[in-house]
Amino acid sequence: SSSPVSILGLGMMGGALAAAFLNTGHPVTVWNRSASKTGPLVAQGALPATTAAEAVAASPLVVLCLLTNDNVNELLAGLSEKQLAGRTLVNLTNGTPAQARALAARAEKLGARYLDGGIMAVPQMIGGPAAYVFYSGDEQAYETHRPTLAALGGTKWTGSDAGLAALNDLGLLTGMYGMFIGVVQALALVRTENIKAEEYAELLVPWITAMLGLVPEIARDLDSGQHLTDVSSLAVNQAAFPNFLTAFKEQGVSVELFEPFQALLDRSVEAGHAADGLSRLAEMLTVR
Ligand code: NDP
Repeated sequence: SSSPVSILGLGMMGGALAAAFLNTGHPVTVWNRSASKTGPLVAQGALPATTAAEAVAASPLVVLCLLTNDNVNELLAGLSEKQLAGRTLVNLTNGTPAQARALAARAEKLGARYLDGGIMAVPQMIGGPAAYVFYSGDEQAYETHRPTLAALGGTKWTGSDAGLAALNDLGLLTGMYGMFIGVVQALALVRTENIKAEEYAELLVPWITAMLGLVPEIARDLDSGQHLTDVSSLAVNQAAFPNFLTAFKEQGVSVELFEPFQALLDRSVEAGHAADGLSRLAEMLTVR
């Protein structure tokens, strides 16, 4: 039989999580700070809880999806040990590894099991084939509830250190933001000469896709500590990069996103790494 789930936080993401549990036949209890958001889910068969405590009492598995972990801490402050003891809390709120570790310790003190999660999907992807969630924390709780959590998409275990799901999540999103930073800068540049962004995107997508092919090699060089390259040395990149900054300025595009990269190339070459490839930059960025 399908195990019951409570969802606290019914924003864009929490609402999608609740719908996915409903769609897979789980009894679902929902709670949201603003009660109006329970309406559509109740229409789909969810049970509304009037308080967070009532929602926690309704299911052994309690999924949290609030805006920030400050909100999660605030919510936990209003719940007693008696209410939380024996529950498994799955916190899918975006946060840092340190926040997740602190929440795990706090949950443990309250007699609850804690799983932290990082959702690799937008709400529309939840329950579909491309969505997955990183999990970390209490491994036994993960094994117990994995069949239920599979309603959201794939499940990826990252370790019993509760901070690891957030670390993996932030890592992937960091790669994504780097890509988007490049995309908006490129579009801002070509637009200055009236090239249509939509037209240029047809060139940008295959180019970025081709460059992604270099990622495994950069990663392998970083792992091995053997940074010498026959693709494109830091010296070559350092020599070319002023052209980018100069062109941005000449075309009237801000250099605020790209100037720091010039500084990193400069200090890497100054440190004697002129012949190395991009993997060296990851070493240079490591400050501890
Ligand atoms: P929304 O802004 O749509 O929803 C935020 C939710 O948090 C609402 O339910 C809101 O309640 C609740 N909330 C905010 N402050 C408090 C508080 N002090 N006490 C109780 N509840 C509070 O955000 P999303 O649903 O999009 O995102 C939720 C989490 O999921 C975030 O951490 C986000 O980073 C993460 N996430 C979102 C993705 C996305 O594509 N949307 C992708 C991956 C992760 P109320 O309705 O009362 O305001």
